[in-house]
Amino acid sequence: MHKLLELPVVKLSEETEKLREEVRKFISEELNADSFEPKCDSWLGELSQEFSRKLGERGWIGMTWPKKYGGHERTAIERFVVTEELLAAGAPVAGHWIADRQTGPLLLRYGTEEQRQFFLPKIAKGECYFAIGLSEPNAGSDLAGVLTSATKVEQGWILNGSKLWSSGAHHAHYMIVLCRTSPQNPENRHQGMSQLLVDLSANGVTIRPIRLMNGEHHFNEVIFEDVFISDDMLVGEVGNGWKQGMAELAYERSGPERFLSTFPLLVELVDILQDHTDKRIHIEIGQLAARLRTLRHMSLGVASLLQRGVTPDIAAALVKDLGTQFERDVAEIARLLVSPRLTAPSAVHAPTKYEKRLAEALLHAPGFTLRGGTTEILRGIVAKGVAAR
Ligand SMILES: Cc1cc2nc3c(=O)[nH]c(=O)nc-3n(C[C@H](O)[C@H](O)[C@H](O)COP(=O)(O)OP(=O)(O)OC[C@H]3O[C@@H](n4cnc5c(N)ncnc54)[C@H](O)[C@@H]3O)c2cc1C
Repeated sequence: MHKLLELPVVKLSEETEKLREEVRKFISEELNADSFEPKCDSWLGELSQEFSRKLGERGWIGMTWPKKYGGHERTAIERFVVTEELLAAGAPVAGHWIADRQTGPLLLRYGTEEQRQFFLPKIAKGECYFAIGLSEPNAGSDLAGVLTSATKVEQGWILNGSKLWSSGAHHAHYMIVLCRTSPQNPENRHQGMSQLLVDLSANGVTIRPIRLMNGEHHFNEVIFEDVFISDDMLVGEVGNGWKQGMAELAYERSGPERFLSTFPLLVELVDILQDHTDKRIHIEIGQLAARLRTLRHMSLGVASLLQRGVTPDIAAALVKDLGTQFERDVAEIARLLVSPRLTAPSAVHAPTKYEKRLAEALLHAPGFTLRGGTTEILRGIVAKGVAAR
């Protein structure tokens, strides 16, 4: 196998397993108190300020960050275990998810001391949420097509343009916006971009919902009209936005949210099929279980490389490609095995937990292989990486 695709096999320590038990106990108490209902894709669409705050109190946000910024100096593996338990339970973690997963690490790597001191403790408490400001009407896979621009003025920047598909921007306090700070250079389209921290309640920011077919709201279009951004809200260096944005994407791609989005459906599926004697069903469920186990090992391997300070972008792209395909297959196999005639909109108000989870999974499934980089783009990264190095 190519060296870049090799991943270490991680054995979890007793201490880490104890942490898992703590998380499970907390989740079970929350479920007993009816604090949430397990949902598919909860990391994108299910938000509870109270739940985020409780996780913050327990030290389960910003787990790997330095204590001086409100973090807990735990390992990437410990963070993995906490996040996989929360996702497997379909818990409402969407509020803080992006800030914890990528904004915090981005600010630790490129932010100023003032930015770290201001934002990180609030994020770690589960009280400050971020949205991702990358995609635009003409810039998705081809992010170099970003047209949102910031013009330098005294003590800051004036931001104009729009972002699209901004998940959770209607709940978020801030967005990290990738924008042009110098005109496009056709010779090098990645040049001249920067990242700005934008307060989403500022004058000149408009957030418009883009609803799913059942009326659900988690996407938005975010429009900037002459928004003033002070100099201290620039992240990293002027013109270094492309490199910084790519580093941010590496954190985005390899975690357990890339194969556990439909796990709550898998739980219900196994529950209703457990007494079945049909061999075909056993084979399908067995294959899903085997794929899940492999993906989990791979994702843990990526977490352990992150712990060692390596940026495993090629392996992360591979985990996301295989993982999001798995999430989609869970939905499709469940539909074919149990309810081939069921369609997502008809099942949204269905009476059983299984049908509700299936409806959520079917509605969200088309997005799994698009968000955070499409399958084609990821395969391009893997192919180029393996061929070039
Ligand atoms: C659920 C969800 C949440 C999202 N949340 C956010 C968010 O919070 N913030 C944000 O900024 N964005 C977000 N996005 C946007 C997401 O990042 C883009 O949808 C994605 O990057 C693809 O861009 P696009 O939609 O413009 O499709 P396009 O780039 O137009 O691609 C269309 C198709 O063409 C293929 N294609 C494009 N270029 C190539 C190529 N060079 N080679 C081969 N095939 C190619 C793609 O693989 C795809 O199948 C979200 C998307 C989804 C579905």
